Amino acid sequence: MKAGYSMVNAIRIVRSGRLFSLIVLVSALSVPTAYCLSVVSASALKASGADLPYVELEAEDAATNGTIIGSDRKFTHLAAEASRRKAVTLSSQGQYVEFTLPQPVNSMVLRYSIPDAADGAGLTAPLSLYVDGVRQPDLSLTSKYSWFYGVYPFNNHPDQGRPHHFFDETRTLLSQMAAGSKVRLQKDVTSTAASYTIDLADFEQVAAPLMSPPDSLVITDYGADPTGAIDSTVAVQKAVNDGQSQGKVVWIPPGTFTVTSHIMVDNVTMRGAGSGYSVLHGNGIGVYGKQGAANSRNVKLSDFSIFGEVTNRDDNADLNGIGGTLNDSTLQNLWIEHTKVGIWVNGPLSGLMITAVRIRNTTADGVNFHQGVSHSTVQQSMIRNTGDDGLAMWSEVQADHDNVFQFNTVQLPDLANNIAVYGGSNNSVISNVVTDTLWQGGGIHVGNRFHSVSISGMTTIAHNLLIRTGSYHTDAQFGVGAIWFYAADSAMTGSINVNNNEIDDSSYEAIQFVGLNITNTVFDTNNINQTGTFGLQIQASGAAVFNNVTATGLQAAGIYKCDGVDFTITAGSGNSGWNTTPFCGPRPTPVYPST
Ligand code: CA
Repeated sequence: MKAGYSMVNAIRIVRSGRLFSLIVLVSALSVPTAYCLSVVSASALKASGADLPYVELEAEDAATNGTIIGSDRKFTHLAAEASRRKAVTLSSQGQYVEFTLPQPVNSMVLRYSIPDAADGAGLTAPLSLYVDGVRQPDLSLTSKYSWFYGVYPFNNHPDQGRPHHFFDETRTLLSQMAAGSKVRLQKDVTSTAASYTIDLADFEQVAAPLMSPPDSLVITDYGADPTGAIDSTVAVQKAVNDGQSQGKVVWIPPGTFTVTSHIMVDNVTMRGAGSGYSVLHGNGIGVYGKQGAANSRNVKLSDFSIFGEVTNRDDNADLNGIGGTLNDSTLQNLWIEHTKVGIWVNGPLSGLMITAVRIRNTTADGVNFHQGVSHSTVQQSMIRNTGDDGLAMWSEVQADHDNVFQFNTVQLPDLANNIAVYGGSNNSVISNVVTDTLWQGGGIHVGNRFHSVSISGMTTIAHNLLIRTGSYHTDAQFGVGAIWFYAADSAMTGSINVNNNEIDDSSYEAIQFVGLNITNTVFDTNNINQTGTFGLQIQASGAAVFNNVTATGLQAAGIYKCDGVDFTITAGSGNSGWNTTPFCGPRPTPVYPST
């Protein structure tokens, strides 16, 4: 069903010859049944992540006369927030990064950082773009949405120190470019920022806009303004209300429509011409299901973008891209940026299917299944630079159960974990690729934390690939494991099966148990390749079973465990490289490969 992967630093994201279009998609990507759970039974190590429609090129691998920064994994350092922990800084006139295209494309997403303004409000500056030597319209880059300071939940005051969340992205539709074309970003005399740091670029062949379905209700017919000059909130809501009452599709044509409060949706379909064409944008924007007794169901949202204007994290602000309660609903081919959370749904609800969404540059989670969400899935989605967990299930008060996160790619969470399961039962995390955890979290996490209903039933972590995950927890003062278990609120007794995962180049230990008693965890056929510290770090009492767990390239003795910690390791067959005499003492400073 899916190609395997090779253990290299770079992840090749584009699959063989598939010309996509996130933007075409409704028909092309009616994937759900293809990505069934049967893959779990496969015995070989496999991890695919999302089947993404673009090729990702790292600036540090491109032609450049700029300065390569990194490799660096230290929180508050610019390079630590870059993919592969490396980027290129252009600081003087004439410096450039030039990408050579491996395939024909017509669009670019550039991930970059420019300095903040002295007052913390950010600045906007142009950067020159050339295609095969021909200057194009300048890119407009900004630090308005980046650069946070101080302690959680952070602020925009540079004098409070601890700067982070340095990067943002800009996306541009370009003329058709051929394979071999050269795309150059250059600091010219017109480039007014003191420096430009380029992390990577995603190049994609974006399809032509989709056509409106027959007999749909077009929001411009209700007075919505595709130029964004006039606030379209009322017009969009009226179209949605009619779409619900008349049973017709609500159509968002190409344009950037200003929306400044929540659009409330129930039993309605909203479609756009593609996430690169149809954009809802504004301060206060969100598309929300109704909560409470008469909550929403049968909502279908596809092929448009939601861009917010959130520039700081306020946990009391209801500024999520998509929110509320959405039973038996589908979210597909959406692109969400600059909101608080990308998609935060409150249960009880069941039957939410999220497919092929891109969520980037948020101030909190990417997706959160909160409080009694069941039989719901996130798949084939791409999450990057979230301000908190990339994908989370949070069983606060009511258990999340029978949910799956599968075939997703989660890069560079700026805080916490790439993927987290907080309590609940019978949830699975399968065939995801997670990379570059920054701070206070790991690649994949299961915990009884944040007042969640205790883990029960069977939690499955299978066929995932973790690269450069785990990070330093500055509050707890320990390195967090790439895969870690934290019994914070109560003992963890539910079964957890961890099988067929590949854990590469972990920033600290590969696997960690911490907190109160943790039992009934079974590891079967997992490979650990390179750690900053240990293979296994045990800071909790309990027990676990290990079969066919192999490790190479550990920087420290295989197991960290002190004498007073009553944890029973049952080692079956096929283990190697990590099951050594436990070590107790000051934990070492991690050492990373020189690449
Ligand atoms: Ca990079």
